[in-house]
Amino acid sequence: MRALPIRVRLTLWYFAMFASAAALLGLASQWMLERSLDKVEYHDLQERADDVREALSHQGQVQNIQQLHDLLAIIYEFKDGGKYLQVQDEHGNWIYRSRRMMSQNSGLHTPDMLPKAGLVVDFRQGTHLVRTLEYPITVEGMKYSVQTGIVLDRNLGLLNDFRFNLLLLIPAVILMATVGGHIMSRKALQPVAMLAAETRRINDRNLDIRLPVSDANDEISDLSLTLNQMLKRIDSAFMSVRTFTGNASHELRTPISLLRAEIEVALFRPRDGEEYRAILTRLHEETLRMTNLVENLLSLARADGGAEIMTTAPICVDILLHQIAQAWRRTMNEAMLDFQVDISEGDLFFMGDQRAIQRLLSTLLENASKFTPPGGSVKLCAAANGKSIVLSVRDTGIGITAEHKHRIFDRFYRVPTSGPVVPGSGLGLALAKWIAERHGSQLNVESAPGLGSKFSFSLERIDIPLQTLDASEAFLARPESELDLHSIEYI
Ligand code: ADP
Repeated sequence: MRALPIRVRLTLWYFAMFASAAALLGLASQWMLERSLDKVEYHDLQERADDVREALSHQGQVQNIQQLHDLLAIIYEFKDGGKYLQVQDEHGNWIYRSRRMMSQNSGLHTPDMLPKAGLVVDFRQGTHLVRTLEYPITVEGMKYSVQTGIVLDRNLGLLNDFRFNLLLLIPAVILMATVGGHIMSRKALQPVAMLAAETRRINDRNLDIRLPVSDANDEISDLSLTLNQMLKRIDSAFMSVRTFTGNASHELRTPISLLRAEIEVALFRPRDGEEYRAILTRLHEETLRMTNLVENLLSLARADGGAEIMTTAPICVDILLHQIAQAWRRTMNEAMLDFQVDISEGDLFFMGDQRAIQRLLSTLLENASKFTPPGGSVKLCAAANGKSIVLSVRDTGIGITAEHKHRIFDRFYRVPTSGPVVPGSGLGLALAKWIAERHGSQLNVESAPGLGSKFSFSLERIDIPLQTLDASEAFLARPESELDLHSIEYI
């Protein structure tokens, strides 16, 4: 079932609340009025019984019943027609009975049988409801039972009027409260409707719009602020996606133009086999660079989209570093660099994704080889430091100035150089930083221009004796195999 709109729900709540409050108030006031009338009636009846006592006590010494009867007859016939009154002495002799009581013909209890507060009895006579009080009195040592009565018609009429007025008033109050509640909920929700209308205006082309924030410091301003913060995040995410796409297209355009130009020159005139071979070799190198670039782009896109899969396993530092070193030795020799591996102690293990860590270290080694002039040295190091292992790549290369040091981890950022163009896309360190972070670490750089650089990160050391490891564990059990740098793929 579809949920009712909040406005309708609030109105219904108002209705239910006011209806129950009005019903409760109505019932309570009716009960209180009834009780007050009952009290007044009781006092009235008691007073009448006291009147009889007064009349009898003025008589002085009692002579006989007939005298008493005559006395009361005179007083009451004259006073109020003796409407509802009967008096009996303790021996059951009637002293007085008004005509109406006589026609009712109800007996009286002896005075000793009556409670001190008397006995209230209601009866209907014709169209009238009569309330009587049977009350014990004592005059000059003689006990009497007096029953006085009053017609309740007036009070019943009063009660009925009161009920009728309540029945008219309560629905009117409920109706007013419901209408008021509806108007109030509309007013209360108006800022929400305005926010919704403002938010609807925002699309991917005007993400810089911000919603108005009232200075009331209430839930609505809190909602606007939260939405604005969300818009800011979406805006910067959109901006970085746009920048990333723009930079990626730009980076891809250059090698593609180069390839095209190379091919067009090659096709310009017929050439011999050697010449074609040289051209194809250059084209091949170019496509390798492009493949690398595309792989980096893909990796970053997947990292952003959360599609990365990291499979962690125990990794032996010794095996890992020697494998990588073996893969890089030829490149380092070609660059005329002294390349060394330095591992502080054996049996160092950590938990990590083998391919990702290989890729991270390869990026650092590639940079070291690119930015260290011939004759320099590159060192791949692992050192135990308490509960952690610090992996680092040091070179004696050109170094990085402080001005650029904090930016080299940005995507597509490359330190501008005046010398020959060094191939690269500016994505390697961004990826390397991301891999370190996914391993709970941070990629740090220390560098001095002209002296060299050191990139390092630390990983938590784990204690695993080598013999307890599963022999099928591919990375650890594999003998030092050839590491194909271009096939390192970690996602
Ligand atoms: P790429 O190497 O493809 O240009 P990176 O993201 O790996 O991209 O590096 C970004 C920039 O940081 C490089 O262009 C270079 O200017 C600087 N850099 C990285 N490593 C070193 C290093 N070892 N020595 C000097 N500069 C470096």
